[in-house]
Amino acid sequence: MSTIRLDFVSQDHMVFSDDVSEIIAPGIDGQLGILPKHAPFMTILAPGEVIVKREGQQDLNFAVSGGWLEVRPDKATILARTAERSDEINLQRAEAARARAEELLAQGVTRDERDRLEMTLKRSLIRMKVAGRRSGWRPTGPGAGDTQTPTGDGG
Ligand code: ATP
Repeated sequence: MSTIRLDFVSQDHMVFSDDVSEIIAPGIDGQLGILPKHAPFMTILAPGEVIVKREGQQDLNFAVSGGWLEVRPDKATILARTAERSDEINLQRAEAARARAEELLAQGVTRDERDRLEMTLKRSLIRMKVAGRRSGWRPTGPGAGDTQTPTGDGG
């Protein structure tokens, strides 16, 4: 099984570094699947989910709030503004950030403030979605992919 090296860092920490079988990342123009021996390229990452696949192991899911991805045939590098693995996400904090942003958006705000709040809202929704990937969680019903609730202790 061939692998590609992934070095994944955020502004404040080393997120992940190992050989992996596939990386799925939120490219600015859509979801990207990176396999070993991929042709070299660079792109901006949008806020979204990074999925790391490893042979014989559970996938790892991360929330990122934008950044850069550089790919070479043997190595991928992700430089993210912020990144949290699904089990590191503080769900209460993400929900509080969402509620705060929604409350302020409902009030009269300037265009700049609206843009900033919409990005905050987007980050919080991504964190909530990725937190729902934790083992032991499952969707509450059809179409509940973005609004999962814990079945046990929340992992
Ligand atoms: P908040 O209003 O809760 O700070 P934010 O979207 O403004 O949310 P960011 O500026 O994106 O926060 O992130 C600041 C730091 O806090 C980063 O290190 C990020 O990884 C971390 N972080 C933000 N929200 C969460 C969360 N819900 N769980 C864990 N870490 C978080």
